[in-house]
Amino acid sequence: MSPASSPDLHRRGLMLILSSPSGAGKTTLTRNLLQDRALDLTLSISVTTRDRRSSEADGVHYYFKSKAEFERLRAQDELLEWAEVHGNFYGTPRAPVEAVLTQGRDMLFDIDYQGTQQVLKKAQKDVVTIFILPPSMRELRARLERRAEDSAEVIAKRLENARHEIARWTMYDYVIVNEDIQRAMVEVKAILTAERLKRARSEEGVTEFVKRLLDE
Ligand code: 5GP
Repeated sequence: MSPASSPDLHRRGLMLILSSPSGAGKTTLTRNLLQDRALDLTLSISVTTRDRRSSEADGVHYYFKSKAEFERLRAQDELLEWAEVHGNFYGTPRAPVEAVLTQGRDMLFDIDYQGTQQVLKKAQKDVVTIFILPPSMRELRARLERRAEDSAEVIAKRLENARHEIARWTMYDYVIVNEDIQRAMVEVKAILTAERLKRARSEEGVTEFVKRLLDE
């Protein structure tokens, strides 16, 4: 039994979408959430045509693909959603998502607003969206520079993009300002706990539970 859900009540898994401009701390947050085994979150590993960063591993952070391979996946409808971000293609493989949700387990997504819109269109009631904001633009720039993995040109492009992305905060269910990662973690966990307990997600499970309860 996970501490974040009631016992014995079967429910549908949910899709937790974390979005933010690059550098807002989403990667750290995602890593911490996945390391918390009690939360039992499965990361959706995207395919991308972007070059691999030195800190990244194929099949762990992304599946790195050629443009032709990406095209094939898209043409065969193997992607739940896809988008072009910063001149590269990114997409979510469909099959793992369906497998995890059917088991009543939750999937964590690190996708942008274009992908979020597509997933909302396809499965709105299974989706919970959180937008992560940096505490300031200055801090965002500092975090991107500290990462020291991208060229000055790429950093400038990401900062420019961040302004557009931040303006889209209104389309998300929840907004978290990530000034302190521990606090942001507590907030995401609170959201997850409440969303898991929503009646609509466990209608069948609650119906059975209440029936047994009243039969006592
Ligand atoms: P990065 O290149 O820094 O890893 O990611 C750049 C942006 O692409 C981030 O905003 C990230 O959320 C987004 N992204 C990563 N994977 C996907 C995906 O599968 N679909 C969509 N739509 N966006 C993605």
